[in-house]
Amino acid sequence: MKILTRIVIILAVLQFGMAQAQTTAIKCGKLIDGRSDTPTENVVILIEGNKIKEVGKNVKIPASATVIDLSAATVLPGLIDAHTHVLLQGDITSDDYDVQLLKQSIAYRALRGSVSCRTALLNGFTTLRDLGTEGSMYADVDLKKAINRGIIDGPRLFVGGRAINSTGHYPLSNRDYAWEWKVPKGLIEITGPIEARRAVREEISYGADWIKVYADRSYYRLTDGSFRSLSNFTAEEINALGDETAMHHKKMSAHAVTRDGIIPAIKAGAASIEHGFGIDDECIKLMVEKGIFWCPTIYVNEWVADGRAAAGSTMNKTFTQTLPATFNKALKAGVKIAFGTDVGGFDWTENEAKEFSYMVKWGMTPMQAIKAATSVPAELLEMSGKIGEITPGAFADIVAAKEDPLKNISALEHVGFVMKDGKVYKNQFVGSER
Ligand SMILES: [Zn+2]
Repeated sequence: MKILTRIVIILAVLQFGMAQAQTTAIKCGKLIDGRSDTPTENVVILIEGNKIKEVGKNVKIPASATVIDLSAATVLPGLIDAHTHVLLQGDITSDDYDVQLLKQSIAYRALRGSVSCRTALLNGFTTLRDLGTEGSMYADVDLKKAINRGIIDGPRLFVGGRAINSTGHYPLSNRDYAWEWKVPKGLIEITGPIEARRAVREEISYGADWIKVYADRSYYRLTDGSFRSLSNFTAEEINALGDETAMHHKKMSAHAVTRDGIIPAIKAGAASIEHGFGIDDECIKLMVEKGIFWCPTIYVNEWVADGRAAAGSTMNKTFTQTLPATFNKALKAGVKIAFGTDVGGFDWTENEAKEFSYMVKWGMTPMQAIKAATSVPAELLEMSGKIGEITPGAFADIVAAKEDPLKNISALEHVGFVMKDGKVYKNQFVGSER
């Protein structure tokens, strides 16, 4: 094609794009922008296409703009859950997990996953970091594709693919299947640094954005009250996982509950620690020094504690008693706490926003909790300036609640307006006008 023809086509496409870019103005009663510590009142957000163009009190609204009136609401950035499992539908009991892996095809689980995605979006979560498909192979990559292509409704997904553990340490929950049967696994098992590297390469080749590893298991408590566990990897293995991840400019997330998982994971370059219920002073110090994020996944622990205790496993129950003080200590020490719930570990019928109330009850201000679900995880995802904030240039991912979440954080369990990428998915506020 001649260069001139090419230029004409490009210009025509650009012009068409500009003509199509719709302008929307949102009138906000109160605005929490995800960055500032104080809210502002009676401001306008001007959106062009899928991006925020202007935010302020004196924004001129063009006559052609669609006006959305949220003057009776508190408006904030679309929420981010940095630890989810869209392909899992709750696993309190052993059967809950095994039934999903043994009796449900990946196609069936993906269909259910598409519903989880829609649920998350309508609950106000416009971005999820999904950390492991639990036996659904790379169906998370497909869900992400289907969302990005507009086939199904869902949040922006950053996906972790299959997740990685060492051989033999991630069985189905019921451990007594006859050994002749090759039962499915919830993730990739590796032994040795070569298999570790191969697994990371496979994950990335199929479209994983994050490498999720399981750094420890079998948590227990010593008589002095401290928590320990069994490390899943040799130093050689976890270092190979971290090194290979970094080599491809990806980031590693580590399921690690006590120092036996947390410290080797951090040394291997993990960007975030998942759960960390048994985190101790040395871990806290190391995380602050290195700027490692912590997803405390409080609600899932509360959700499973009683059921698992009844089945004879009492550690989650113990953590419900110790986690408030641990959380408060890490918060005061300055650990970067990112909102991450592990939803999917509990049923999607439970709104993941329930996590907020625990964070506030245990020491965060409501504004800190909101930032933990907006600008803080945006930094973890290397998306600062693009998501988790309402500022010029950011994607128009915007939610609103009728009640002020700064006065009552549980207001975020009742989000009445959801916009993602400039498109409105939910609006329960009257007064929308053209
Ligand atoms: Zn999880």
